[in-house]
Amino acid sequence: MQKDIKVIKYFFKPSGKVLYVVKGFHHDYITTKTFCTCFDYNFRKKPEGCIHMKALVEALESNKYEEIIADDEEYSQIFKYELYDVLSEGPR
Ligand SMILES: [Zn+2]
Repeated sequence: MQKDIKVIKYFFKPSGKVLYVVKGFHHDYITTKTFCTCFDYNFRKKPEGCIHMKALVEALESNKYEEIIADDEEYSQIFKYELYDVLSEGPR
């Protein structure tokens, strides 16, 4: 896995909802195996996916992610925070 990329799994209780956040070099992204909120994924549409999706898959396979248990009430807050971080990023 690339250095400085960290995967965080938010596990929300009691619903059991899961949110994966990949912390990149400058920003955090909400990432799934088939989707990412980063610029590369959404605008450049790389067929092989972006580095965050790769990092997520690798992290899941090797169990190398940080798990944070959060309350359902925090879900929208965390979601908004991470999304805001992405939207503040301009094209590079
Ligand atoms: Zn990405």
